[in-house]
Amino acid sequence: MRKSFIAGNWKLNKQVSEAVETSKTIKEGTKNLSGVDICICPTFTVLKSVYEITKDSNISLGAQNLWYENQGAYTGEIGASSLLDVGCKYVIIGHSERRKYLNESDEIIAHKTLSALEAGLIPIVCIGETLEDRESDKAQKVIETQFSGACKNLPADKFSKIIIAYEPVWAIGTGKTATPEIAEGMHKFIRQLIENKYTKELAENCRILYGGSVTPANIESLMKEKDIDGALVGGASLAPESFIEIVKKSQNK
Ligand code: PEP
Repeated sequence: MRKSFIAGNWKLNKQVSEAVETSKTIKEGTKNLSGVDICICPTFTVLKSVYEITKDSNISLGAQNLWYENQGAYTGEIGASSLLDVGCKYVIIGHSERRKYLNESDEIIAHKTLSALEAGLIPIVCIGETLEDRESDKAQKVIETQFSGACKNLPADKFSKIIIAYEPVWAIGTGKTATPEIAEGMHKFIRQLIENKYTKELAENCRILYGGSVTPANIESLMKEKDIDGALVGGASLAPESFIEIVKKSQNK
């Protein structure tokens, strides 16, 4: 049985006061919900302030990135220990915006995933094809490469902790959500990849989130699909009311 999971990726938005207000509203709006795991992922600089609001609630804190070393001469970077220190439980790794703007490779993503797990953080590993990949019939190949790249160094006991987010790049921030059928097809494919590399049991237990223009209007149809266990929500997580609605509609899958 896989429990629903909704994560809000705030990207580069919200300074401390707005982040605190948004967190308070989300906390209030989700306080009696138990059939879904909830996570919000703000910018590094507001993590601590958000943690002060969410620490006694059913909302967990996640970061949007980390570096794969915990300390040392890595100017400008933040490691897993620092994220744990400010209350993080989760960390997004390999988001397509980082792959695109920061040239993050599968190799780096593999290091980051292992580093997060070794420190006790739960990675939300993002994989997804571009429109060009899809139109040239390479979507599955790209997903396979990104999946095996990210999991390259992961033994089964470590893999059992991770969450995967299937985020087609063409659906992120575009308003063009993948249809439930397209998303389900890829989630099923990813579950098969997990079974091929690890075991059927790990494939059945792994939570696979969909990400890409999720809104309160489309979350229910996505969540009806057997292999979609939740969502990584960008734009619609910025407005607390819409995030709360998405969370409520994702309970008790
Ligand atoms: C994301 O940032 O991971 C995302 C899916 O964004 P959006 O919901 O805005 O498409």
